[in-house]
Amino acid sequence: MQKYIYNFGAKSATGNATLKNLLGGKGANLAEMARMGFPVPAGFTITTEVCTFTNRFNGKYPDGLKKQLSESLAYVEKIMGKKFGDKKNPLLLSVRSGARTSMPGMMDTVLNLGLNDITIHGLIESSGNARFAWDAYRRFIQMYAEVALDIKGDIKGVSPFEKIIDQQKKEKNLQFDTEFTAEDLQQLVALFIDVVKKSGKEFPQTPEEQLWGSIRAVFKSWMNERAIIYRQINSIPENWGTAVNVQSMVFGNSGETSGTGVAFTRDPATGENDFYGEYLFNAQGEDVVAGVRTPHRISRLGKAAPHIYSELIEYRAQLEKRFKDMMDIEFTIENGKLWMLQARVGKRTAAAAIKIAIDMVGEGFIDRETALMRIDAEQLNQILRPVFDPVEKKKAMAEKRNIAKGLNAGPGAATGVIALSAEKAEQFKKEGSDVILARMETSPDDIGGLKVSEGVLTARGGMTSHAALVARQMGKISVAGCESLHMNYEDGTITVEGGITLKEGDFISLDGTTGEVFAGKIKTLPSDIHRILIDGELDEKESDLYPYFRDLMQWSDETRTLGVRANADLPEQAKIALALGAEGIGLCRTEHMFFGKDKIKTVREMILATDSKIRKEALEKLLPLQREDFIGLFRVMKGRPIIIRLLDPPLHEFLPEKKEEIEALAREIGITTPEILHKIESLGEANPMLGFRGCRLGIVHPDITQTQARAIFEAACIVSKEGIKVYPEIMIPLALSSDEIRLQKEVIARTAKKVFTKEKIELAYKTGTMIELPRAALIAGEMATEAEFFSFGTNDLTQTTLGISRDDAGDFLPEYLNQHIFKASPFKTIDQKGVGRLIIMATKEGRAVRKNIHIGICGEHGGDPDSIKFCNEIGLNYVSCSPYRLPIARLAAAQAAIIHRKILAAA
Ligand code: PEP
Ligand code: MG
Repeated sequence: MQKYIYNFGAKSATGNATLKNLLGGKGANLAEMARMGFPVPAGFTITTEVCTFTNRFNGKYPDGLKKQLSESLAYVEKIMGKKFGDKKNPLLLSVRSGARTSMPGMMDTVLNLGLNDITIHGLIESSGNARFAWDAYRRFIQMYAEVALDIKGDIKGVSPFEKIIDQQKKEKNLQFDTEFTAEDLQQLVALFIDVVKKSGKEFPQTPEEQLWGSIRAVFKSWMNERAIIYRQINSIPENWGTAVNVQSMVFGNSGETSGTGVAFTRDPATGENDFYGEYLFNAQGEDVVAGVRTPHRISRLGKAAPHIYSELIEYRAQLEKRFKDMMDIEFTIENGKLWMLQARVGKRTAAAAIKIAIDMVGEGFIDRETALMRIDAEQLNQILRPVFDPVEKKKAMAEKRNIAKGLNAGPGAATGVIALSAEKAEQFKKEGSDVILARMETSPDDIGGLKVSEGVLTARGGMTSHAALVARQMGKISVAGCESLHMNYEDGTITVEGGITLKEGDFISLDGTTGEVFAGKIKTLPSDIHRILIDGELDEKESDLYPYFRDLMQWSDETRTLGVRANADLPEQAKIALALGAEGIGLCRTEHMFFGKDKIKTVREMILATDSKIRKEALEKLLPLQREDFIGLFRVMKGRPIIIRLLDPPLHEFLPEKKEEIEALAREIGITTPEILHKIESLGEANPMLGFRGCRLGIVHPDITQTQARAIFEAACIVSKEGIKVYPEIMIPLALSSDEIRLQKEVIARTAKKVFTKEKIELAYKTGTMIELPRAALIAGEMATEAEFFSFGTNDLTQTTLGISRDDAGDFLPEYLNQHIFKASPFKTIDQKGVGRLIIMATKEGRAVRKNIHIGICGEHGGDPDSIKFCNEIGLNYVSCSPYRLPIARLAAAQAAIIHRKILAAA
């Protein structure tokens, strides 16, 4: 009989930490902690396979599950010395989700299960605390009704149970739930059961029915909307499924010697090796993570309950030793006894991830390869995040605009307009504003709004609240638990205790590194790493993070085999690229060099030329401008390879659109407005992406290619004579035949010869092509007879292979992702099945003809970790990406190399 359930609770636990795929992270680690001899309330885990089965077959369970469940229940009863449904000393259970990787707050949970009109009296008797028992019962009914019976709130989302609680508080003149007496709570229980009845459903009184109802609901919640969105954002496959953990309840809210808390074995924001966490006395776990009360820092527990604190410190050490990582734990204290409820690898900021991984190498926990594999490459975009301009911040302080202070839950600085709901956030973003989502407390339902916001601000909730966790992980700037603020959803305002009122749509600024909140805008500035490496205005020694970042990049570079270049068009961008580790430029889009007031005018003259003489004159004017740009690039790059691409976009993109602009241009270049209008019209294309662009331009007007080549070679000679090495690689865009390459190469070679003869110097250079069209990929062997290098322009190759316009995909692509036609956007991650196949084929055929042909990619995919892994696997020479993604590319390339070596070793 297949095993569907694994028990835990003592050293006899049947699961262990390696069974994550089957038991989920939570279940596997509960079993592991039990094996390590930690005090874990006994329970059992129903496997992820059951989730997949039951969701596929509409709630049906595999044969044998029922029998295994009653055996496991007996195991739990034996260890805990209690019986499920017992009149005197009833065993109460929790039912929770637990996927392979944690999805904080995205799925459902049921607590206090097993209570009914009979067992409630047993709980009152065994706990000796009627208030606590009735409180547990009313919480259970509400949770069960909402989760398992699907009793929803009204149109505004207000739960009928919360309405009753509010009414009762008003009637009894109470401020907090904690002021309810046992009798009040008993009355709530009756009212709650009534709500269930009125909704046409029944609250089940038998514990078995409650258990199965809860298990079903938790499995089902794998498919709820917020879980689906979360999976999409985090690329978690649907077929993983969630496990369900059924565990004995222990109560942190059973009195003043009880409590609950969450902690990290190291600081999840900075990576500092400090025990870091929060707790509350007389509270349930949900109170800490949902942020209803703001908890105390864990160090205070050292004074409040020293024996518990030292026990926790001991487990902290053992957990790090066992898991060799920073762990996040949940614990409960029940009448002075500590129980461990969860341990999992802790989520962290990019800065913390880097520091912890490198520190752990130093501490002998892990080796360098493991450290490199630990850090999520994509997350590295956080370390270049902005901070406030200190001058503006000081000014804001002087103006007393610092209206509140909360917890520094997600580092970085953000300014934007206030949105009080996820919907408003999405609307403001659409209208073009940067947004700060401000909520009393965020719920997982806010995730869509969080995604489009620069930052998130909450009035309640601690550092470990779900809001903070999710925001940190998404790299959002966030300030949590800002208790002096009140968000008034009805009238669209935020009131500051004893201070001003802000309106939805007003500007607000958050410092997620210090927790400060400011009214109005504050200019943001680049981060430490940015200031050290790019601006050169901060000394390395003044940054805590920099030495760690430097080590990480150095280790990555020592490990990777794939080259890393940057897409940079101007000397300024090339400087940033070099500072962030580029080994060369993989793509200089020369048309971008013409953006800017002076140059664009001359380009327009060239395009509007009515005969070749006039065009020649315009090109003559352009020549020195281009040459200056190339000189700048060569000087910055000092002999590193630079791929300069000949002019690519459709010419009409360079023409003015507005009437005044057209009239001004007509005056400046001395032709009439109607003439310009006529030319613009004639240059217009039905499908510009497939029109008169790429090398088609140089084929029809070879003088354009000639001028560009001349500018490149003259610049190369000038810089070379300065004693700086130069190595230009000239690239022909959007080619579909070897003849195009041959013809363009001839123009380039002729020009080179002329310039070199005149300058009395001979410089090495190469001419290659982009592979951006399926035809070019299909005849790559032939292309390689002429091309000395290939660069896959995966933006165009994706658009032309899929037949999806890269500029118009926004309207339907999201739905394609929703319906799983694509796992990820093909414009972000290479579509391996289609485009990838063409790349593999073209690489093979190109190399068969020209053995050492250098091949890379320069589409946006060059900075995407999954695509980088693919490029490494198929043996490309390099990837080229935007300068700011270079740290990501360097680490991703190192990770790809490690994986590749492991695969080879295993084969
Ligand atoms: C490409 O098509 O992938 C490419 C790099 O060129 P561009 O984005 O300029 O069309
Ligand atoms: Mg292209």
